[in-house]
Amino acid sequence: MAKVICPGSFDPVTNGHVDIITRAAALFDEVIAVVVVNPGKSPSFTVAERIDMLKKSTAHLPNVSIDSHSGLLAGYVKQIGAVAIIKGLRAMSDFEYEFQMALTNKKLAPEAETIFLTTSIDYMYLSSGLVKQVAAFEGDISAFVPAEVLGDVELRLRGRHLAEGD
Ligand code: ADP
Repeated sequence: MAKVICPGSFDPVTNGHVDIITRAAALFDEVIAVVVVNPGKSPSFTVAERIDMLKKSTAHLPNVSIDSHSGLLAGYVKQIGAVAIIKGLRAMSDFEYEFQMALTNKKLAPEAETIFLTTSIDYMYLSSGLVKQVAAFEGDISAFVPAEVLGDVELRLRGRHLAEGD
């Protein structure tokens, strides 16, 4: 049973994330999408909310489960015995950071490979940050996030720019 992980902030989950998770689920026996708690970021959604939205968005994929982790990713890889870390690559701008992370994780957890899946052309522009910007101004985000979480995301982010005093 080849187990892999799809780590990320998922703040919030987008159709781009679900595309990568779906494609990983077609390649491997078991996929765990992991909400990684990054102390350097101040997220808009709590870990519990991000887990809940990921669960709703992947409920149709029987070999996908959701978890969270607040330490080093390499520690999690070892703990669950993952054979690979699956990442999505959107553009050259993703590459330098992802390349550095892949080499670091290989050093810390040599038993796992980092595998990059090229973004689908439909989602190459899409990021959680973009969703947050559009939703804050009450723009239509229905093409960006899974239908199962559209209401959750809109409710939380609507009018966010006002709260920030812009
Ligand atoms: P992080 O904060 O670690 O960048 P994200 O939640 O933004 O986490 O992304 C998690 C993973 O999903 C990363 O591997 C990222 O490259 C990938 N990803 C995000 N958006 C897209 C997209 N539109 N197409 C392909 N991969 C994506």
